[in-house]
Parts: sequence; structure tokens; C-alpha cells
Amino acid sequence: YNAKKQAGNTIFFNSQMQTEELERLRLEADLQQAIQQQELHLNYQPIICLTTNQVVGFEALVRWHHQERGWVSPVNFIPLAEQTGLIIPLGEWVLQEACRQIKLWEQELAKTGHLSIAVNLSGVQLTQPGLVNFIENLWKNCGNKKIYIKLEVTESVLMKNGEVAIETLAKLRSNGIQICIDDFGTGYSSLAYLHLLPIDTVKIDRSFVNQMTEDPRNLDIVETIITLAHRLDLNVVAEGVETQAQRDILRSLHCEYGQGYFFSKPLPPQQIVTWISQLSHI
Ligand code: C2E
Ligand code: MG
Ligand code: MG
Ligand code: MG
Repeated sequence: YNAKKQAGNTIFFNSQMQTEELERLRLEADLQQAIQQQELHLNYQPIICLTTNQVVGFEALVRWHHQERGWVSPVNFIPLAEQTGLIIPLGEWVLQEACRQIKLWEQELAKTGHLSIAVNLSGVQLTQPGLVNFIENLWKNCGNKKIYIKLEVTESVLMKNGEVAIETLAKLRSNGIQICIDDFGTGYSSLAYLHLLPIDTVKIDRSFVNQMTEDPRNLDIVETIITLAHRLDLNVVAEGVETQAQRDILRSLHCEYGQGYFFSKPLPPQQIVTWISQLSHI
């Protein structure tokens, strides 16, 4: 009886694994197609200067519109892309598309002053030997004085890829590309190490910002990160600002910039010019 039951479980387990594996393979094939067939889009989320209320830039966030599944979140397909190597063509597409948009916006947003467009880089991209050349060539063709590109790398990616990551970022930075450390506070980096990193901006992870008003420990963490960043001449973006109360606290802590639903959700590029013209309402 036991043997039979075990065998039964094994079969069930295997068939479930097979279903999951099949599903993953299907999604992988679909993603590969999506990269080639323009099912990917970039949305842009505004980043606001907390003292002037002006927009200083945007973060480019990838979106996948799947024919049958509808909108698939990057939280679901970026890890798959990283596991399968598809993050390389996907990441190249994101960089190219952001640069194409920068060119389009050069005229339309001329009155807005300087703007940055931040693009997320995954660890797999960061350790590709061709990355620096790829970005520099792209930038030569679309770079302009009004809108410039920034790169976001998570704290954990920087910790995991050590020397290689730091060397690559330093090269990019010496060519005028600014670097942000993303999701800061979640990656267990040594604080003493922060001043050795070739970065310009610290983005405080939204989990701390979100819970700041309810949990004083999160407020302490936010305050500590801001103080430390300022000591090291880095500027700070608070992610996930959802309420006016959070915005006000961040202002009082001298955090330079904010990003979050309180200001705007990520928007399709066609809505950005209108959004900027209505910004005085915040
Ligand atoms: P991230 O880089 O930390 O981006 C911020 C995420 O927080 C975005 O989620 C954004 O929509 C969300 N967010 C912004 N404001 C708020 C807020 O007020 N409240 C809440 N609850 N969430 C907010 P999204 O667009 O789903 O992207 C998730 C993650 O996927 C990104 O986190 C980033 O790690 C990754 N990702 C997105 N686009 C790309 C890409 O082009 N390349 C790579 N490698 N990763 C990407
Ligand atoms: Mg980011
Ligand atoms: Mg982030
Ligand atoms: Mg994140």
C-alpha cells in the first residue's frame, strides 16, 4: 500500500513539475517572440525634486503586453529573462528604446530644463563584456545636452558581482553616465563599502518609505540612509512615495527627490508631455 501511495505521489509530483516546466518553456518562447515583435513597451515614472516640485527625470520601466495573457508584470518576466539569457536582447531593446524616446523628447520637452532617464540594468547585463561599448555607441548617436541617461543597479547586484560590476560602472561613469544604486537598504551591503562604489545616487527602497509613517524603525532607517548618503556627497531618491505625509517627512529630512504613486504612476510616453504641463497641481 505504501509503495503504491508513494508511486502515486511521485507521478503526481512529476506531472505537476512537467506542467510548470512546460508553462515556463512556453513563457520563455513567448518572451523571445515579444522581444522581436514589439510586444514590449516602456513606461516612464516621474522623479520629482522635493524642494521645487519640478520633475527632474523619469525611470523607464518595461511592460509586456502578451496577446493572450494581457499585461505581464516585469516582476514575473525579468527573473525568467535573467535565467534564460533573454535579458541580454531584452536589455539591449530597453536601452535602445529609451534612447529613441530621448531623441523624440528633445524638442517636446525643451522648456522643461535638464532631465534624466533612468534605465534598470540587471546583473547578467552588467557582467557582459560588450556592455560599455554598446552603451557608449548608443549614447554617441542619441546623446544630447538636455536629456541624459542614468543607469540603475540594485544593491544586491553590486554586492554579488563585486569587482567586475564596479569596474564596469566606473568606466560608464567616467564617460558621463550617472549611476544609481536601486532598492537601497535591502541588499545587506556594508555601509563602510558605500563610499567605494562608483555611484551618484541612492534610491531608498520603497518598503522603508511605505512603512515610515506607521513604524518608527523604518523612519530611523530612512533618516540614516539620507544622512549617510549626504555625508558621501550622494543624492537621494525615495521610492514608493504614496502619501502627502510621506512626502512631507522626506522633505523635512532633506531628501532631494521622490518617486511614487503620490506624484504619478509609470505612464506611457504619449502621456508625459501633458502630465508635465499639469505638474503645478501637485
Ligand atoms: P524598480 O527598479 O525598483 O522599480 C520601481 C517599481 O516600483 C516599479 O515596479 C514601479 O511601478 C513601482 N512603484 C513605483 N511607485 C510606487 C508606489 O508608490 N507604490 C508601489 N507599491 N509601487 C511603486 P514595476 O514597474 O512593476 O517594476 C518592478 C521591477 O522590475 C523594477 O523595480 C525593476 O527591478 C524591474 N524592471 C522593470 N523594468 C526593467 C528593465 O527594463 N530592466 C530590468 N533589468 N529590470 C526592470
Ligand atoms: Mg529601478
Ligand atoms: Mg527600486
Ligand atoms: Mg525593485
